Amino acid sequence: MNGIFQQFFQQAAEHIDTVLHNDSFTLREREIGRVLQVSSGVARVKGLPGTKAMELLRFENSIMGIAFNLDPDEIGVVLLGEEADLSAGSRVERTGRVVDIPVGKALLGRVIDALGQPLDNAGSLKTGLRWPIEREARPIIERAPVTEPLQTGIKVIDALIPIGRGQRQLILGDRQTGKTAVAIDAMLNQSDKNIISVYCAIGQRGTAVAKVIDRLRAADVLKNSIVLVAAGESSPGLQYIAPYAAASIAEWFMDQGEDVLVIYDDLTRHAHAYRELSLLLRRPPGREAYPGDIFYLHSRLLERATHLKPEHGGGSLTALPIIETQAQNLSAYIPTNLISITDGQVYLSPALFQKGNLPAVDVGKSVSRVGGKAQLSGYLDVSGQLRLAYAQFEELETFARFGTRLDDSTRHNIARGRRVREVLKQDESQPLSAFEQIVILTAVNEGLFDDIPVANIKKTGDQLAKALINQLESQQNKIYSGERLSAEDKAALTDFIRAVLNPDSTPHHANA
Ligand code: ATP
Ligand code: MG
Repeated sequence: MNGIFQQFFQQAAEHIDTVLHNDSFTLREREIGRVLQVSSGVARVKGLPGTKAMELLRFENSIMGIAFNLDPDEIGVVLLGEEADLSAGSRVERTGRVVDIPVGKALLGRVIDALGQPLDNAGSLKTGLRWPIEREARPIIERAPVTEPLQTGIKVIDALIPIGRGQRQLILGDRQTGKTAVAIDAMLNQSDKNIISVYCAIGQRGTAVAKVIDRLRAADVLKNSIVLVAAGESSPGLQYIAPYAAASIAEWFMDQGEDVLVIYDDLTRHAHAYRELSLLLRRPPGREAYPGDIFYLHSRLLERATHLKPEHGGGSLTALPIIETQAQNLSAYIPTNLISITDGQVYLSPALFQKGNLPAVDVGKSVSRVGGKAQLSGYLDVSGQLRLAYAQFEELETFARFGTRLDDSTRHNIARGRRVREVLKQDESQPLSAFEQIVILTAVNEGLFDDIPVANIKKTGDQLAKALINQLESQQNKIYSGERLSAEDKAALTDFIRAVLNPDSTPHHANA
């Protein structure tokens, strides 16, 4: 008898043990759900009641997704990968994590996707650090005013619409107006300035991104940059997370006390990806069919750009978001949102682009609300005069077109304005140092270009910049240390310019 009971209890104990440890129990513990439906980058999932908002879910074939909509009986998930491998009935499990991205020095020089996977055949990323892509912006108390310039190397921007480190400056314009070119030039100009750049491509053609990477590599700035790509072919989910991932990568460097420049190219595509996802998830559409939180989408991203106080490391994150306007409409929904979130904008006009006034910056519609305080003092003497001459000229030129008879001073203003416009032209990939810019702008302001035919002005400006190598060193040092030039310095500058322009007529070279 005893033996039978013993056998019975042993069997019962074994049964309980299997119940406790068998698959179905552990599965329930790990919360396995099933896909109900999957289409266009979005999946509906059932059976994961404990899921938290924005939690990362893992599907079969290690496809990841973000829990966006938490409805009582199902979850709307944004997929971060190829949905072709998923179908109704596929398994899903919770991860208990949010989306994160590798960060650290090891990322420099690399091209990665929005999940941090390398796209450049240079092996895996040698960093163990990962940061969540969505992080809270630094509190006001840790922020310092914008005081240091971020030179773009582009005359018209550095002189008239200056950008400071920690600023958010929008670049906007119709398609093919040179938006990317301005941002990439700004990156190229950081090659000798210890500023790390992050270029985030969202929803662009692969060939356009490849061209950007080539330009960075050719100018040898890729080693100090990180390129994060969510191309147009990738899922809308990846396009949606890309700028946040780029911001986290940049924030890591800012936390080490570094100055970082981030370019989001472009946020129009980002907004489109988010609108697509929201409509597929049946969130209520608002103006222009965008969901109600579209403003928050971009404000929480750009809020992460800042300049930290010295006791918090003194690092900075400067953001250059790019957006594309339709038919020059600056008052459409997304442009007005971004104009109000940023500290200023650089507007590129298709009309100027067609006339060949490159970069096609429309000075009248562009503004920098904080950069003026960060601008090198050396610009003060040239930029005010330049802006005035240019604004007057634009008005006068329209009149002059009607064949109106003009007095001498008007004619003079028009002639000067034409030269200013010529001087502000600049080719791609030809960044100029602050000193080179100031000398060229002084030349036009002082009328030293007045006798040169308009067609030769651009060439003469370039020639002047070349002649400056190892010249006027004391003035150069003053400019870079943020001092204003004295009257004697200015005289030395104009002497030097005269000597370069008329090498024969001046007997000696002004070499201060
Ligand atoms: P998209 O809307 O397609 O993104 P975009 O506004 O970013 O275009 P870019 O691709 O930067 O424009 O430039 C458009 C074209 O203009 C390119 O072929 C570029 O080489 C040329 N371009 C831009 N700026 C200059 C410049 N300063 N000098 C000469 N060419 C330029
Ligand atoms: Mg572009």
